[in-house]
Amino acid sequence: MARMFINGQQADAASGETIEVRNPANGQLVDTVPKASAEDVDRAVEAAHRAFRGWADASPHSRAQLLYKAGNMIRQHIDEIAGLLTAEQGKTLRESQIEADRLAENFDFYAGLTNALRGEYVKLNEPDKYGMVIKRPLGVCGAIVPWNFPLTLMANKICPALAVGNTVVVKPASTTPLSTIRCIELINQAGLPEGVLNVITGPGGSTGEALIRHPKVRKIGFTGETGTGKRVMELAAQTVKRVTLELGGSDPCIVCDDADIDAAASAVSVGRVFNCGQACLAIKRLYVFESVYDEFVEKLLGRAGRLKVGPGTAEGVRMGPMHTSGGRQGIEDFVADAVDRGAKVIFGGQRPDGAEYESGNFYLPTVLVDVPDDARVWHEETFGPVLPIARVNDLDEAIGKANDSPYGLGSSIWTRDVAKARNGMDRLEAGYTWVNALQVAHDELPFGGTKESGYGKEHGLEVLDYYTEGKSIVVAGV
Ligand code: NDP
Repeated sequence: MARMFINGQQADAASGETIEVRNPANGQLVDTVPKASAEDVDRAVEAAHRAFRGWADASPHSRAQLLYKAGNMIRQHIDEIAGLLTAEQGKTLRESQIEADRLAENFDFYAGLTNALRGEYVKLNEPDKYGMVIKRPLGVCGAIVPWNFPLTLMANKICPALAVGNTVVVKPASTTPLSTIRCIELINQAGLPEGVLNVITGPGGSTGEALIRHPKVRKIGFTGETGTGKRVMELAAQTVKRVTLELGGSDPCIVCDDADIDAAASAVSVGRVFNCGQACLAIKRLYVFESVYDEFVEKLLGRAGRLKVGPGTAEGVRMGPMHTSGGRQGIEDFVADAVDRGAKVIFGGQRPDGAEYESGNFYLPTVLVDVPDDARVWHEETFGPVLPIARVNDLDEAIGKANDSPYGLGSSIWTRDVAKARNGMDRLEAGYTWVNALQVAHDELPFGGTKESGYGKEHGLEVLDYYTEGKSIVVAGV
């Protein structure tokens, strides 16, 4: 059994209860983890609370040294971590290696920001006094993480939180706790003081909610579904906790008549099937100008045809299984809904044939055309490898359709025309717009959705504002 990590030590649930972790490629048991109760959550939060003052008062340089060391510990164990991540999540080993590597890079990036906090001097009207605004860490931060990118999305929270002096309790998704536990163990081995970084495991509805309700937790960084995010916000309100909410998305991509069609087709195919389409930033709706539609679709299908689906550990596989059978059923329902309303499946639309696929949650990459405007795929988040494509006549129509969504996470536009690009940048309702570029988030830029895709920012210097708060100071008699 894998164990939690609380106050610098491995820990079991006080109740002795456990939950199972299963492999999405074959349904087999990978391991079990403790099912933490409110009592266990309290132990972890108390440990983080005790550790807070010392960590907050440590010099930025010493915090930076430990974060660099933590990144190196992860780097030295990439293959082991990637193996665990593929076994519990389903993604390909290559995707798992990239993810573990990103975790290490995040430690480097935020180690470089431990001394980036800036305050202000404010001249007051009363001449014998002066004012300042100082930035202070918040205290104990809870990090609640989903299963699709367990390590990257944990990194987005723990790295900035630790860099500026907060302590953290992480709750990974119930289905992907193993790689998280191992990483937190390694990060602690880098020399973090006891209690600075802890992990508890258990169901969101009980363990996660106990973390949000705990009065000594000052902030919740949450990534997950929009519905869960609303619940997190509601619970956090009871103790007026700060929240960052990174929620669902239905990212549109517009391919204009003057686009580099090869580059766009390549970005769309990667952007839709990476991580088996289970990415918040996946391209989930595609709007292609009529004059280049046929050429674009032909190139996209050529790429889809070369994509090998299979277990994440198998040689040459580019797309693993979906994470859960429920998730696959959800995608099948989306496709059935679109087809019932008149859409055509021009690629995939079914589970792959063959004995090797029978016990896993496999589904073929799927392309839908002639999809009516009222089909669910246009209005809800499709968290799997299905792509609806619509023809559009001009940019106004494309942007109108792109913005017709409750979500506003990412968006992209492919064009060589500066005016069209500028229009997309200004008018697409999203936290991010990529112009002629694959939808990849960069550490240097703030990331976060608008509308129902979330609240607050991760990444960039901006994230530091979400893990600190300003305090006004008046100094008299000077
Ligand atoms: P969920 O919202 O189901 O779960 C996310 C995390 O929250 C898990 O750890 C889960 O635990 C926990 N949780 C569930 N219910 C509660 C609750 N009532 N109180 C506290 N915690 C709870 O999301 P998924 O795991 O299904 O993740 C996929 C979603 O995440 C997609 O919508 C995707 O778009 C979004 N996402 C957003 C990103 C962004 O940056 N905007 C990035 C990546 C994903 P448990 O596993 O035990 O249920």
